[in-house]
Amino acid sequence: MRRALLVAVQSYPVSVVSSGSRDDLSWLDLAACRGEDPEIFFEALPGFVDSAKQVCGRCQVVELCLERAMANGERFGIFGGLTAEERRALRRKELAA
Ligand code: SF4
Repeated sequence: MRRALLVAVQSYPVSVVSSGSRDDLSWLDLAACRGEDPEIFFEALPGFVDSAKQVCGRCQVVELCLERAMANGERFGIFGGLTAEERRALRRKELAA
């Protein structure tokens, strides 16, 4: 359902979209993924991870994006330049520190 929603909005695959947050969304204007195909931010297809990470690599709001994805517990997709598994590893590392 989330993917369908993301494709429907044809913009940023952000957690805000799925979480219904009422936070200020103005930072999305700076998202490098605006206008990109949201499908590349989900790891299901070969090559998409690299494509998505390239977009995140030139994003001005990568830190905020990652912070929000971590705070919202996003379980799927690439946010802040990290895959869901990489975020889980980061979370485990933070918890162990
Ligand atoms: S870090 Fe990646 S997913 Fe997050 S806003 Fe930037 S381009 Fe989009």
